Amino acid sequence: MVANGSDADAGTLCVAIIGAGPAGYYTAEALTKGDANVRVDIIDRLPTPFGLIRAGVAPDHQSIKNVSRRYTATNDRENVRFVGNLSLGRDITITELKELYDVVVLATGAAKDRPLGINGEDLKGVYGSGAFVGWYNSHPDYTDLKPDLRVASVAVVGNGNVAVDVARILAKTSTEMADTDLADHAAERIHGAPIKDIYILGRRGPLEGAFTPKELGELNRMENCVALVDASQLPDLAIDETLAGTQKKNMASLRAMASNKNTDKPVRLHIKFYLRPTEILGEGSVCGLRLEETRVENGRCVGTKVFETLPAGLVVSCIGYRGNPIEEVPYDEARGIFINTDGRIDDQLYCVGWARRGPTGTIGTNKPDGIGIAAKILEEIKPAGKRGRDGLNRLAEERDLHIVTFADWKKIDAAEVIAATNDAPRAKIVDIDNMVTIAKS
Ligand code: NAP
Repeated sequence: MVANGSDADAGTLCVAIIGAGPAGYYTAEALTKGDANVRVDIIDRLPTPFGLIRAGVAPDHQSIKNVSRRYTATNDRENVRFVGNLSLGRDITITELKELYDVVVLATGAAKDRPLGINGEDLKGVYGSGAFVGWYNSHPDYTDLKPDLRVASVAVVGNGNVAVDVARILAKTSTEMADTDLADHAAERIHGAPIKDIYILGRRGPLEGAFTPKELGELNRMENCVALVDASQLPDLAIDETLAGTQKKNMASLRAMASNKNTDKPVRLHIKFYLRPTEILGEGSVCGLRLEETRVENGRCVGTKVFETLPAGLVVSCIGYRGNPIEEVPYDEARGIFINTDGRIDDQLYCVGWARRGPTGTIGTNKPDGIGIAAKILEEIKPAGKRGRDGLNRLAEERDLHIVTFADWKKIDAAEVIAATNDAPRAKIVDIDNMVTIAKS
């Protein structure tokens, strides 16, 4: 095995993974698990590792975030290195990375919101979930979002786990959020907001919901907010016996919600089905949504040409994500992923996770994905005496780049933990310059 930081010998496979999220770390883990002589640099544009674990997973789902311990253990291997604060496109190109490394793996996720593609989407008060979740999760890109939450009614579009997350974070009280790492700037706005009605809007029915039972069930256990479902939108009781797994559990939750009363708690969460937005209404700022009633035919959502209006001062669209295209890399516009065959893009370029398959599955889905790509790389690519990390170090020095290492990140981590108040696990730092200053202190 080659020591951390020393010149690679001709027999060392030099790998650059772009993106320090789950897909990147599972790939690094699998690449460095066996006897192969491999050295991995995990490069991220942020000074912080763990991608969606830090900035996507809901702040009140701390137990899910514990998986970062596993990624830390991977990073502690002497042939794995985190290279933070280095941005593909801004600081280095794919061509340069290919010159330095035997293989480059894109684990860049799906960072862009899928657009609804309807009029009014650009009104003030309309956000994609990537931006909105990033804002309450302290992602440096979205600190300045500053959504105006002085509204009575919110529409959350979509029936996936992200819609459930967004509705729950807006509905929970400051007491319920006390042991979370919700961004301070978000807590101030959310917990001071006069929101009374939150609508989760599904374009298909209760059986087609993309949410999972644990997440849906949480909506029925909030302190100040009652989850409401219109019983007439649920299928006949007899169907329950034919259901299994996720659908069965989801149906049980929805039936329980259908027996709640809208006077039970001061805030109401309405879970509504068979409605799709056709226009976002407002002048300058959003004031509501035009919705078309739908029905499901052969699993597909079909419009009925019956319309209604829903008042809303905030709209968060949670309808999935697309990957960011990268110069020189073939990109499938329709699917929002890199064009690849089982993860292979070309002789030296691979992709993994959401960048390969689109935004599906849980954190754990990225593990078999990473294992598969690692096996493919080890089989298909032979070391060609590349300069790898030493070459990258030299390039960073020449360009005066301030790379953040894993040891540097541990300083940022410690500063965040020390700054936490009450039961919060950490107070996240949101400013990149501030992070780099702490890292280099
Ligand atoms: P998702 O699970 O794909 O759900 C997207 C939802 O948006 C679906 O209900 C979809 O409806 C709806 N939709 C799509 N286009 C629409 C349109 N034009 N108008 C109205 N509705 C539209 O996506 P997600 O919620 O963003 O989650 C992404 C992935 O992360 C998922 O795999 C999810 O499970 C995972 N995740 C997991 C957790 C967790 O485990 N706690 C938390 C968050 C996210 P149709 O079904 O009709 O297309």
